[in-house]
Amino acid sequence: MNHPLYIYNSLTRRKEHFKPLHEPRVGMYVCGPTVYGDAHLGHARPAITFDILYRYLQHLGYKVRYVRNITDVGHLEHDADEGEDKIAKKARLENLEPMEVVQYYLNRYHKAMEALNVLPPSIEPHASGHIIEQIEYVKAILDAGYAYESEGSVYFDVPKYNRDFHYGKLSGRNIAELLNTTRELDGQAEKRNPADFALWKKAAPEHIMHWPSPWSEGFPGWHLECSTMSEKYLGEVFDIHGGGMDLQFPHHECEIAQSVAHSGHDAVCYWMHNNMITINGQKMGKSLGNFITLDEFFTGTHKALVQAYSPMTIRFFILQAHYRGTVDFSNEALQAAEKAYERIMDGWKRLNELKPAEASTVDVKGLAQKCEEAMNDDLNTPIVIAHLFDACRAINSVNDGKATISQADLDELKATFKTFLFDVLGIVDERAGGSGVNLKPYEEAVNLLLDIRRDAKHKKDWATSDLIRNRLAEIGFDVKDTKDGFEWKVK
Ligand code: ZN
Repeated sequence: MNHPLYIYNSLTRRKEHFKPLHEPRVGMYVCGPTVYGDAHLGHARPAITFDILYRYLQHLGYKVRYVRNITDVGHLEHDADEGEDKIAKKARLENLEPMEVVQYYLNRYHKAMEALNVLPPSIEPHASGHIIEQIEYVKAILDAGYAYESEGSVYFDVPKYNRDFHYGKLSGRNIAELLNTTRELDGQAEKRNPADFALWKKAAPEHIMHWPSPWSEGFPGWHLECSTMSEKYLGEVFDIHGGGMDLQFPHHECEIAQSVAHSGHDAVCYWMHNNMITINGQKMGKSLGNFITLDEFFTGTHKALVQAYSPMTIRFFILQAHYRGTVDFSNEALQAAEKAYERIMDGWKRLNELKPAEASTVDVKGLAQKCEEAMNDDLNTPIVIAHLFDACRAINSVNDGKATISQADLDELKATFKTFLFDVLGIVDERAGGSGVNLKPYEEAVNLLLDIRRDAKHKKDWATSDLIRNRLAEIGFDVKDTKDGFEWKVK
């Protein structure tokens, strides 16, 4: 295949022509969620970014194996006061199995992702289900001489690795700086160097989740699961590794060091990172009171929100920015995204109602190609959306009787909307039964009422005409009279 798809490689810091190792197969790994709390906006952006890549690669004809892990061994964030991991703490407080906590949040995460129309990955491996593989991986790094055991834990030897390879090549940090800036932390005494990171950690007695290993009853270091599971499912070298920019250091830097120490070479051809989300210009954080979960967005129940925002509003808003740019959430920005989403869905609805003429007086040729060119330029979704809005303007002028469109152009427009708006951008029409309910009969019922109203108007039966219009308005329909009849939508 010779598709001119260019993607930005965070490792080389330039856009590169995408060429998979084993055409037409593509291996793609994305760091997935840690499941000890409800999914929030920070989860939505990488999920949507790499969903777009997944969808677009398939659109180009590639067969993609998309692996997104579940971090569930509970080591990622420790409670600062008690030094206990969050899954374990919740399990202890609520008298649950740690895996009950994991499953509860995982189910909720899946539900939120489904609402956002994020496709499920091909494989969703759990870190806890790959302990044996992780132990084998640690053994290989020990054998290669880039790790050492200390009091039941195993640490990666960063200075030694850096003498033979280059630690810091992804994040651009230099090791001398790292050694000087790494703070003294608990357990530091076990390490030869403060920059060394844990491959295996001996579990403290109160730690609920632990597994036997040659070194101690303990648990794997966080960075290890991604090196291990990507190798297991995608091979020693694979095409694309993605994640949020905040994972570049230390997580992805450590992944690179682990795979080079383990196999003698890099595992990843293209590193891709989505930028972060801020809320009203601030970083999202529990202490800042702006930590809003996806459910709170969908229901409008957080005090910082003036209304509920539908999953498609959130998705559309994220796609209106390029994935490498920052996105700032505010009520104003989300309301604008909601309107933009409605405008584009109105365009799609009108497109399906337009009557063809002999010839077109609007120029809509080449729309699909323009959308494809934008996607090929490092997944430039805001430009794709801009092209679709251009098409909407043409649709509206035909709808208003100011222009005409041929059958061929109509067909091309419909095909382009279907491919780019629905298949590639993954937008769904929430007003047209996105819930899975067939709304067609209800739509027909509203049309029937409005037909009766039109006849009543013709007969100058204003009482009936007004009654129908007012009652529909009360129920929540917005009715507009047009040249040919009427248009309506749910307010
Ligand atoms: Zn990872």
